Amino acid sequence: MTKTHKKYLLGIDIGATNVKAGIVSAKGELLHQTSFPTNVRDGKDAVIHTITEQVRHFCAHHGIHADELIAAGIGAPGPLDYKTGILYFAPNLPGWHNVQLARIFTQKLKTDTFLENDANCAAWGEHWTGAAVDAQSFVMYTLGTGIGGGIIIENRILHGRDGAAAELGHVIVVPDGEACGCGSRGCLEAYASAPAIVRRYKSALRWEVGISATILEQSISAEEIVTKATEGDIFCKKIIEGTGKYLGRSIAGILNIFNPEMVIIGGGVSNAGPILFEPIKNEVNKLALEIARRKINITQAKLGTFAGVIGAAGCALTRLEISA
Ligand SMILES: [Zn+2]
Repeated sequence: MTKTHKKYLLGIDIGATNVKAGIVSAKGELLHQTSFPTNVRDGKDAVIHTITEQVRHFCAHHGIHADELIAAGIGAPGPLDYKTGILYFAPNLPGWHNVQLARIFTQKLKTDTFLENDANCAAWGEHWTGAAVDAQSFVMYTLGTGIGGGIIIENRILHGRDGAAAELGHVIVVPDGEACGCGSRGCLEAYASAPAIVRRYKSALRWEVGISATILEQSISAEEIVTKATEGDIFCKKIIEGTGKYLGRSIAGILNIFNPEMVIIGGGVSNAGPILFEPIKNEVNKLALEIARRKINITQAKLGTFAGVIGAAGCALTRLEISA
């Protein structure tokens, strides 16, 4: 088969709970998609074996042969070296240390495979076909169990020396504030991630309404708090507005440093709409330099949960073009 038959990209987004994968066209259209549990408890080797087998079956199911793949991209959490394709470690993938992911997947999938940080992949996806197609410089926040960050400056991903740039969740928004999983205090992630929103909700209920411990023990998710807020629940609205305020505080600093054209917010909590975005904008208007904020566009991400898959495929294409 000649090179002209290569027309598909494969994107794989390895999360701690689920793996998402997709066949993406060279123009960035998501043609087919799938997801399956990561089962991290099975251990690294079993998980990698499952992913490669599932992805191969997925391709076969859609009649796509390895020879037709231009390249594959993997998005993974945790510090990694995108140049060598080695994942150093990932806090939510126990036992994964110095894994040569790009090399292993290149062998198993029989196509050139590239590794990139998952939050960078989501940002690259939005740049390629989503909310930031017209922006050369932008910053993306992904609000989930943690807070992912991606910084694209003049059409390039900012990696930093150790591939650890854009850890936007660990920017301090409250000095000496709540403990964060990273070991520091007062990080954005300790206030605006999904578990942090639930924690703030419960603590506010306890202090402001005096709700008993039994009721507080009932589980509520951040997404439910968002839904209730959008349905007019005043209490939930206050929690989400507070989330916007913390986000706005960190965004103001980011605008002063990078002077981007856009800030994109993705993840389930971004569905809160103006309840989240208005306080963000108010805080930015209060705190950021006028020149950095006057034309800023702060908006919701477009691609949804497969942004990382599309972006991983896009990153692979870009890297292949650079290395060619
Ligand atoms: Zn932190």
